[in-house]
Amino acid sequence: MSSHRTETARRRTFAIVSHPDAGKTTLTEKLLLFGGAIQMAGSVKSRKAARHATSDWMALEKERGISVTSSVMQFPYGGRIVNLLDTPGHADFSEDTYRVLTAVDSALMVIDCAKGVEARTIKLMEVCRLRTTPIMTFINKLDREGRSPLELFDEVESVLGIQCAPITWPIGMGKRLKGVYHLVRDEVHLYEAGKNYERQEAKVLKGLDHPELAAALGAEALAELRDELELVTGAVEPFDPAQYLAGKQTPVFFGSAVNNFGVQLLLDFFVEHAPGPQPRATTTREVEADEEKLSGFVFKIQANMDPAHRDRVAFMRVCSGTYSAGMKMLQTRTGKDVRIANALTFMASDRDIVDKAYPGDVIGLHNHGTISIGDTFTEGEALNFTGIPNFAPELFRRARLRDPLKMKALQKGLAQLSEEGATQFFRPLMSNDLVLGAVGVLQFDVVAYRLKDEYGVEAVFDNVTVATARWIYCDDEKMLEQFREKNAQHLAVDASGALVYLAPTRVNLQLTQERWPDVTFAATREHA
Ligand code: GDP
Repeated sequence: MSSHRTETARRRTFAIVSHPDAGKTTLTEKLLLFGGAIQMAGSVKSRKAARHATSDWMALEKERGISVTSSVMQFPYGGRIVNLLDTPGHADFSEDTYRVLTAVDSALMVIDCAKGVEARTIKLMEVCRLRTTPIMTFINKLDREGRSPLELFDEVESVLGIQCAPITWPIGMGKRLKGVYHLVRDEVHLYEAGKNYERQEAKVLKGLDHPELAAALGAEALAELRDELELVTGAVEPFDPAQYLAGKQTPVFFGSAVNNFGVQLLLDFFVEHAPGPQPRATTTREVEADEEKLSGFVFKIQANMDPAHRDRVAFMRVCSGTYSAGMKMLQTRTGKDVRIANALTFMASDRDIVDKAYPGDVIGLHNHGTISIGDTFTEGEALNFTGIPNFAPELFRRARLRDPLKMKALQKGLAQLSEEGATQFFRPLMSNDLVLGAVGVLQFDVVAYRLKDEYGVEAVFDNVTVATARWIYCDDEKMLEQFREKNAQHLAVDASGALVYLAPTRVNLQLTQERWPDVTFAATREHA
């Protein structure tokens, strides 16, 4: 195999999705511990501390800044190179989270064993489903009393619509936690509390008939385990790699992230079974990771932590080919060639200048306002990756100027901030209003601050009666024209000029949709 193929096959790029407090941060720390990137554990923590200070801008800046360095955590494990893409913890940045999920090849879902499937898990799973992303599941906090494993499986299957295949099975829970049984390896891994910051070499006993097992678990617990496993193997499907890769089945692990228990079993299985870099769709053709020529897309833009540079970092997922420092890339949206000498890489905790990056890797490009979310870079071919959508905002404000003479600056600022994905920006057809849309309310604070700081514009945001937005498509031009005439008071264009219906209420949206069955009301819009 060529070295490009070998390097590509080694990559495992994923993100962790969970409801806040399920243990994503803690699990990330432990994964990094096994990956040998121990210093990172601290920065994950400090990011977490910062995130609790809510709308204070400085704290925000700090949080966002720190997460520039921890946005991508790359580490070697088991002969593979793992890229863990961080998703913003704060619910208010969920649009960012969604876009990170477009740049991964698989996901890991963390569930609190006492709480089960929670609201944000459901939303994130919906996003994973848009691209049938394969998902592994870690059921966390086994050191506390939780719900029974089969009850949790039922919930995952009925609420999330994905079949559960246990890889490990808990032996007890809470104070009675004794360990886990690995169904595939036929091994019992004994639990030892308090090994938080060391790699836990759990005591391993091969097979349920191991002579030491009765002593380790107690005769009663062992008999119970045997009965339970008999029941379980009869009630659940075994792990099926094809079903997992098709997004129809999720392998499930049990453990306790804070006690560093069950994490290594998860990681071992992950590097073995999780998919490597997958093909990606463009407007013209599918791009295979094995292709020799470089291609990639930008899925996230973030303010730079370094106060000496007021620039931002654009994160590009490499989809094919090899990135080498100093190479020239074509930015297909603008048609311009750019030479990239100093892209950032994210090995361990350091931001090094990368020499090479392969499919599945992420590089950070310095951005002085010329790169937008969704931009494709290639070695010359005019490609545009699809599937990096805008999501219909759920919150809306009308921007008003304190100084009416600053209108031009405001429009420019909003256009640029919307290209970066900081907010979405709509101009109603029937008024001169500027309507901002966001998925989380904190986005408005960020926009207000940045308008002032970077564009010298003081804007006030007023409430506006818009409940939700839908992008409008219709192949029949005549019908589209009729639709525009009849609904002009609710129509707007977004920053890219696309037609959008701003629904005053959900009921209004539903009625309008019923009235115009041949018009498409899309909840997402492609950037490309
Ligand atoms: P996140 O919001 O999903 O990133 O969750 P965190 O990793 O910050 O964890 C939320 C809380 O749960 C913290 O107080 C953790 O210490 C705690 N926690 C995480 N894992 C475990 C675990 O295995 N057992 C227990 N008892 N607590 C845990």
